[in-house]
Amino acid sequence: MPPGPSFPPILRATHRASVMSTQIAVAAAVAGIGVYAWYLRGNNNSSSGNASKPVFSSFGFHTLRLDSTELVNHNTKKLRFALPDPKQPSGLGLTSALLTFSRPAGRWLPVIRPYTPVDDLNEPGYITLLVKHYPSGAQSTHLHSLQPGDTLTFAPLKTFTWTPNQHAHVALIAGGAGITPMYQLARGILTNPADRTRITLVWGVNTEEDVFLRGELDGLEREFGGRVRVVYVVAKPGSGAGGSEVGGGSGKRDRKGFVTREVLEGVGLGAKEEEDVKVLVCGPPAMEKALKGKGTGVLAQLGYRPDQVHSF
Ligand SMILES: Cc1cc2nc3c(=O)[nH]c(=O)nc-3n(C[C@H](O)[C@H](O)[C@H](O)COP(=O)(O)OP(=O)(O)OC[C@H]3O[C@@H](n4cnc5c(N)ncnc54)[C@H](O)[C@@H]3O)c2cc1C
Repeated sequence: MPPGPSFPPILRATHRASVMSTQIAVAAAVAGIGVYAWYLRGNNNSSSGNASKPVFSSFGFHTLRLDSTELVNHNTKKLRFALPDPKQPSGLGLTSALLTFSRPAGRWLPVIRPYTPVDDLNEPGYITLLVKHYPSGAQSTHLHSLQPGDTLTFAPLKTFTWTPNQHAHVALIAGGAGITPMYQLARGILTNPADRTRITLVWGVNTEEDVFLRGELDGLEREFGGRVRVVYVVAKPGSGAGGSEVGGGSGKRDRKGFVTREVLEGVGLGAKEEEDVKVLVCGPPAMEKALKGKGTGVLAQLGYRPDQVHSF
């Protein structure tokens, strides 16, 4: 639900760029209005580190210090923020996002956008974001400008609650930066010894240069072979500066094109093949429309019921 031109900037929290569902947009907007009042009053839990209490265990605002940054591809940065106490857990569950608040130079009202931590949620001391930069994007431009020592204000945002073993198989379909909640969920499922869910992760990107986390995803496949399969679908293979043809190098299993019915059927995601599959989708609007469009969507064509499909 992108805000129209008459909306005040605070409601840009509802501008979901590519991966914000209506539900989250509304939650973000409500939270945004709340935080705006809070922000102006200067309230914050930041400085009161308490190692026994997870940082994001309840709704509240926390200002964290940026510890380090790393460019992971041509437009995506890894930002690692220190929690107030190195022994403190984040308290985030599967699947969580964090609302980020900033007031870039020249803006009176804060900019509010959600991002998904990608580190092991059981590891204390840090949270790590992978942020794709959009040249005209308010928050991603601000986040890419941050230097170690700078601070950012966060609040927790619950997106979708994962229940272990509720489904035999989960299909994670991501587009571009929509990989972050999928990676968080895949790793959380696989590293939980009590969760036996199988995973098929299909990640659509424009070029090979847009892929990050390949090492981590390959690592999950190696470690949990048989339970997880990762499929890369590259729209324009070989078109990036350092791009290689699909089928070469580490991308030898990559598919060419978009995430179509044929691709999903080809990786065993035809709904008829299995009863109990949950499908999670997180991608740009065009991809979500192609997959979930009323009547014409690929997932409906494949036989998935609306209650089997969830969008972040
Ligand atoms: C639950 C959730 C989790 C998210 N997690 C992450 C994450 O981990 N990492 C991450 O990078 N992003 C993530 N996002 C997206 C993020 O919240 C922002 O929407 C994104 O960074 C753009 O914000 P911005 O302020 O930079 O751009 P805006 O100022 O909102 O947009 C400016 C312009 O940039 C372009 N643009 C912005 N976003 C997109 C897009 N996705 N696709 C195409 N064009 C776009 C559009 O032309 C837009 O008009 C998540 C979103 C949701 C809903």
